[in-house]
Amino acid sequence: MNIFWFKRDLRLRDHEPLTRALDAGKPLLLVYFLEPSLVADPHYDVRHWRFVYQSLLDLNRQLKSYGAQILILQSEVVPALEAIHRHHKIETLFSHEETGLKITYDRDQAVARFCKKAGIDWQESQSNGVIRGLPNRDDWVQRWQQQMNAPQQNPDWSRYLLAELDPKVFWKFRGKPLPKSWAVQAGEFQVGGEAAAQRTLKSFLIERAEFYLDSISKPLESRRGCSRLSPYLAWGNLSVRQVYQATRTVQRTSHFQGQLRQFASRLRWHCHFIQKFESEDRMEFEHINQGFDSMVFSENEAHFLAWAEGRTGYPLVDACVRCLTATGYVNFRMRAMLVSFLTHLLNQHWKRGAVHLAKLFTDWEPGIHYAQFQMQAGVTGTNTLRVYNPVKQSYDHDPDGIFIRDWVPELRDVHPAYLHEPWKMPPLEREMTGFYPGENYPAPILELQTAARAAKKRHDRQRATELAQTENARILATHTVPGRLL
Ligand SMILES: Cc1cc2nc3c(=O)[nH]c(=O)nc-3n(C[C@H](O)[C@H](O)[C@H](O)COP(=O)(O)OP(=O)(O)OC[C@H]3O[C@@H](n4cnc5c(N)ncnc54)[C@H](O)[C@@H]3O)c2cc1C
Repeated sequence: MNIFWFKRDLRLRDHEPLTRALDAGKPLLLVYFLEPSLVADPHYDVRHWRFVYQSLLDLNRQLKSYGAQILILQSEVVPALEAIHRHHKIETLFSHEETGLKITYDRDQAVARFCKKAGIDWQESQSNGVIRGLPNRDDWVQRWQQQMNAPQQNPDWSRYLLAELDPKVFWKFRGKPLPKSWAVQAGEFQVGGEAAAQRTLKSFLIERAEFYLDSISKPLESRRGCSRLSPYLAWGNLSVRQVYQATRTVQRTSHFQGQLRQFASRLRWHCHFIQKFESEDRMEFEHINQGFDSMVFSENEAHFLAWAEGRTGYPLVDACVRCLTATGYVNFRMRAMLVSFLTHLLNQHWKRGAVHLAKLFTDWEPGIHYAQFQMQAGVTGTNTLRVYNPVKQSYDHDPDGIFIRDWVPELRDVHPAYLHEPWKMPPLEREMTGFYPGENYPAPILELQTAARAAKKRHDRQRATELAQTENARILATHTVPGRLL
């Protein structure tokens, strides 16, 4: 038999390796491995596995009409493949290439070794616009554009031949039933699946895109005005090409052409950041720019926890963390502000923060996440340092404090004049409202101006070192597209 291995590509449409697997004309087993090592990995959270499970249920609903089903095997990949091979002799294994953490890279190496030894042909297809083994970015944009304009690859299910897995193997790896609660929507988390992804895409392109640029920076408005396609792209309920082509089609007659142009450019960023990680995956563990290796970080546990739990005393920072914890989403600017608060103002190392936020983002995507995190933490040395002032962000992007009041109930009754800076509330006002900063809600854990000045000084000093400068040149040559702003 042949095997199709679903990874972060949980869809049935525009799917090159699935198309190839069906075209091979052999009995085909469709499998998703729920890997215990990945489930236990600190980057992952139940919100991710719920999204995956919802996606698989959705695919299986669609597959019913073809007499097909994706089996969920709760196992590491190699032992399960070994058992299947022993019973059935696998001829070809089909999958997408994955740009992931070291844990999935090592697993893929082990799978490659096993396949070689067992004589199994493992055929991997390119994921979206991310090119394996690319030495530089000289023609990356052109190749990305070609990939996006190429015809979609839709599997021909009339060619499907069922392969039945030996029940002994199935029962060995089936594992415990997954929680029933995973099948339904949890709170305000986005629901996984191709159907939900298509609905979200359509509602954005037809209705919500009108508000895109006005809402992109705002924590409240972005929840509706941004596309909210990130988890669907991260888990592969949609290919980037599907979204790109649908956008171009709508753009021809849309009243929001400018907004859609800006949106489409972010689809390229999606692949651009993953390409960085594909080319230099050590950034999961090390500074991209080794000139920052000698930087000294603070190890204040209380500060880290205050940030991670939304108790910094800065209302917008706390609102964002609490919202993220409860819903799996905040917009780009608020993510950048959270990183800036942790790494610049609190001078904490980016590593622990990157793992913490990965766990909270439903759209957790290793390539984008690590590349963005290091960029916002200023340790690439190639980007302008951005130290966000959380009070200014608050006045600019949540002026009426609606988002803050939603997520920080302690501040719900605070007068608008003090909502963004509750520590400024005069004693009389404190008496009248019964609100005492430092008691009902934390006093700020740092002094903004002093912390920002220190961060800029630290960064400038580090960036000026010879090693940081040499690295700077190397990074620009490897990861940027000549003459183009990505
Ligand atoms: C520290 C940090 C970590 C991040 N981690 C992730 C992550 O793990 N997964 C993830 O998908 N995005 C990540 N982002 C990028 C960005 O914040 C989200 O993609 C975006 O907020 C998702 O909302 P949306 O789908 O409504 O975006 P839209 O603005 O509607 O954009 C459409 C799509 O373009 C891509 N995109 C948008 N902005 C960016 C960007 N700046 N960089 C790369 N791709 C982008 C996403 O796939 C997104 O779904 C991170 C940003 C920062 C600052």
